[in-house]
Amino acid sequence: MERRCKHCGDLFTPCANVAHQRYCCEAECQKARKNEWRKKKLATDSDYRLNQYDAQKRWRQRHPEYWGGYRTSHPEYARRNRALQRDRNHKRREGVIAKSDESSICNPMRSGYYRLIPAEAEAIAKRDEYLVKLDVIPRGYLQVPDIFPDCKQIT
Ligand SMILES: [Zn+2]
Repeated sequence: MERRCKHCGDLFTPCANVAHQRYCCEAECQKARKNEWRKKKLATDSDYRLNQYDAQKRWRQRHPEYWGGYRTSHPEYARRNRALQRDRNHKRREGVIAKSDESSICNPMRSGYYRLIPAEAEAIAKRDEYLVKLDVIPRGYLQVPDIFPDCKQIT
């Protein structure tokens, strides 16, 4: 007694111990069966709905790195966040320098972000450019190399 699978339409022989088997054993069809079951359950069973909601919430709490994935798929959100963070870093850094060395006011080279373009690239086509953070380091700071831990290339 073969039956037609509700998903793929192929004929299959139901297992003896599954009373009303409507799907064959193909992985795709079993997935469809589970989805169908879940949809029906969500629509009819409020306890199940609440449980699912709680489980999803707990999953998000256990997997905060999910937000890393969110940033990757929402580049504008990530770009804006980085810009805001740069602003904050910049302001903090300026505060540190102003307090630690008055003479930096007279220094024509200011701490901040600069575009770095390979010199020979200007004459030719537009090439890669690098956004670099330059910190004016007052004398005396060289003895404390860790004072600017995030002084590195930012692209
Ligand atoms: Zn099937």
